[in-house]
Amino acid sequence: MPYGCDDDKYPWKQGPEDSLDAKYLYVSHAELNAIVNKNSSDVKNCKIYVTFFPCNECAKLIIQSGIKEIIYKEYPKNRILKRRAHRSG
Ligand SMILES: [Zn+2]
Repeated sequence: MPYGCDDDKYPWKQGPEDSLDAKYLYVSHAELNAIVNKNSSDVKNCKIYVTFFPCNECAKLIIQSGIKEIIYKEYPKNRILKRRAHRSG
């Protein structure tokens, strides 16, 4: 959840991503949290380590932040995201 938002006041259900009762509209992704809460002045030319290949929104944020390499465990299923990540480096 975004900083200051009580986890107990928001839904944690899984379901359709556009449902107001599902968690997806409210949670912050790990990539966003890592970039926003970094311990340096910026993340230009850094690597980011994530479990899964970033979603479309996080991929854009990673590119815009100047991160040059994404280390992930799971191979991307979406070819467009994979291509975008490679182009930014
Ligand atoms: Zn994401």
